Amino acid sequence: MIKHALSVTREADFAAWYQSVISEADLAEESGVRGCMVIRPWGYGIWERIQRLLDDRIKATGHENCYFPLFIPLSYFEKEAEHVDGFAKEMAVVTHHRLIADGNGGLTPDPSAKLEEPLVVRPTSETVIGTAFARWVQSWRDLPVLINQWANVVRWEMRTRMFLRTAEFLWQEGHTAHATADEAREETLKMLEVYREFAQGCLALPVVAGEKPENERFPGAVATYSIEAMMQDGKALQAGTSHFLGTNFAHAQNIRFQNAEGELDYANTTSWGVSTRMIGGVIMTHGDDDGLRVPPRIAPWQVVIVPMLRDNDEDAAIVDYCKALQADLAKQMALGEPIRALLDLKPAKAATKRWGWVKKGAPIVIEVGGRDVAGGNVSVIRRTALYREDGKLNSAILPRDAFVGEAAAMLEAIQGDLFEQAETRMKAAIAPIDDWADIERMFAETGGRPGWADVRWSKPTGEALEKVVERLKALKLTIRNAPLGQTGTDTGACIFTGEPAVERVLIGRSY
Ligand code: AMP
Repeated sequence: MIKHALSVTREADFAAWYQSVISEADLAEESGVRGCMVIRPWGYGIWERIQRLLDDRIKATGHENCYFPLFIPLSYFEKEAEHVDGFAKEMAVVTHHRLIADGNGGLTPDPSAKLEEPLVVRPTSETVIGTAFARWVQSWRDLPVLINQWANVVRWEMRTRMFLRTAEFLWQEGHTAHATADEAREETLKMLEVYREFAQGCLALPVVAGEKPENERFPGAVATYSIEAMMQDGKALQAGTSHFLGTNFAHAQNIRFQNAEGELDYANTTSWGVSTRMIGGVIMTHGDDDGLRVPPRIAPWQVVIVPMLRDNDEDAAIVDYCKALQADLAKQMALGEPIRALLDLKPAKAATKRWGWVKKGAPIVIEVGGRDVAGGNVSVIRRTALYREDGKLNSAILPRDAFVGEAAAMLEAIQGDLFEQAETRMKAAIAPIDDWADIERMFAETGGRPGWADVRWSKPTGEALEKVVERLKALKLTIRNAPLGQTGTDTGACIFTGEPAVERVLIGRSY
């Protein structure tokens, strides 16, 4: 029996395991404000890697970064009815700009410092960015406008969970304006594809890209697309969204331009975002009973060198040997960048440090003791192959130069292994289903199995859709998306209505 590093296993209690990874890997902690978290350096380092890799892709597709204010006048929201409806229940509002003593040693908002117009702490920035677009766009020559911002947003969520759903979260939000609907639709799908490629290639998260059903659309959108990832417990995580907003926001914000024929036209807009939720997805996809496993592409440190010091004369030679190793690793390229190697000189026991890095999920941990130095070796622990068959720690002694030469390939293999493991699991857990009775069996409280059902449906709208949504809700299910790339040749009956189906959708429990 292997004695794992965490005290809770995924099998025993997935939710408790998730929380324990977050604390044992030093990713984040509670802040004292419900739903708001402190992101610690290892968690923030992962976010910085996500930012950098995604930012490169956002810029490579022609977008520029900018920044809009945190506070949005309430009236901006009131212009788009559906949008305000959708967000009203979770908006934090600033009403005063000064506090005064309350006479009991406390502070209270000064009634004479009440704002004329309340300011909403941004839950998303369509309204304020749309207002700027209205100023920036006069003629067809000003289009398209392609911008992005990295920011924090606040949505007063009732049920929060670290990273996955927080009241304040960090994200990027892209906003674009176009001359035609076709161009805006193309942009919406282009950015969805950027997200899909990024999730799979960088986070090693297999995802399904598709269109959300009408009831799951972003408030004010004409069409919402998502990438859906499958967590190890079979639940779905909406890992990113891209919205085609048509002219809805252009009408509300008056984004108009003179077209080539000299007539006034409304612009078509899009928006798209991913957030710190992705880190929750990485944890729930790649974590194991020893903690997190960070895909090398987003690991702040890919190789961590732990010297085994003994407080004796040998120590200086060990540290020198480790420094030279670190420098040589940094000259190697892996996954398109120089290897990020850390020499951990913190004053702690080597074994404590080793397990600390295992729990954090550093892809490779190197241990160097006096015997390694004498023999010109290093002891290598790969996070994706932590134990030998006999259950002992799988620490391999390699010649130092051979390891330096192989490190890049090792990191690339770890990145690939993580993706493959997750993809195999996801594929095995998606079940094509034709009968409603099989849905009930698949998602039964006992004897059911985790995963998603892949079903045909007739894409009902309005009341008919509401009925479907209610029926699914009784089983705690939702429609995740209708995967892209369906040929339309797959015919049969809708699992809900029995009418001829028009497409397939994925159904599952979700975070
Ligand atoms: P939306 O603007 O609603 O389309 O959200 C964009 C993306 O942000 C979603 O696809 C989620 O990945 C993420 N997101 C939404 N709400 C939260 C939240 N409360 N906490 C963390 N991430 C969120």
